Amino acid sequence: MDAKLAAAGSLAARMAIIAGAVDGRIAFSSSLGIEDQAILDAIAGTDRSNAEFDVFTLQTGRLFPETEETLARSEERYGLPIRAVKPDAKEVLELLSQDGIFGFRHSLENRKRCCEIRKVHPLNKSLAGAAAWITGIRREQSGNRSNMPFAEWDEGHELIKINPLADWSADELDAYIADHDVPVNPLHDQGFPSIGCQPCTRAVQPGEDPRAGRWWWENEDKKECGLHVSSITQTQPQDQKEPQPA
Ligand code: SF4
Repeated sequence: MDAKLAAAGSLAARMAIIAGAVDGRIAFSSSLGIEDQAILDAIAGTDRSNAEFDVFTLQTGRLFPETEETLARSEERYGLPIRAVKPDAKEVLELLSQDGIFGFRHSLENRKRCCEIRKVHPLNKSLAGAAAWITGIRREQSGNRSNMPFAEWDEGHELIKINPLADWSADELDAYIADHDVPVNPLHDQGFPSIGCQPCTRAVQPGEDPRAGRWWWENEDKKECGLHVSSITQTQPQDQKEPQPA
């Protein structure tokens, strides 16, 4: 699938390949950021009669109001339900009693624990049993992502992880959004290229790394929330329609 996605000329063509190749539930965890909005638009325009797309968002409880509004506008525009996946209430209560409401700023360990409870655990639950997972990762977003393939076997989640925007530049993304009149989070126009939880995201200056506004108090090489950290191999499971990844 990796080679087919790489050769496809448009996002619509890539989404059609995914819909036709994946046998089973295709999970799409949307952050409501600009990349994921382009993917949502492409899913909405894809023939889904023989494909099982499962669109959801991680409702961490700390999102910007603008992100919630983007979710509502997107559901209205595309008529696609976007499931709100919430963290375990008991885990959140224990976290708050142990670390406090802004405990994630006190240490890297605290921050990772908060991301684990509010994002990683709910994501893992939602990915369990899925055949594929679509993400909005682009290689130019950060050095950690510069080698992302279009499709790879994710050993940790036991599914194919698919990055249909892997080779897109920011200009290509902006052009798609404009051409398709895709609803986007208004924070993007206020200097937020990457939007996560409200207390952990700030605007960036022109020329700054797009992810510089995420957990800005931490070292650059620690800036992942754990959603895209897992064991990856090039082995394809036998129950996919594609015989082998390229
Ligand atoms: S981004 Fe911040 S508030 Fe959101 S889950 Fe991670 S540490 Fe917690």
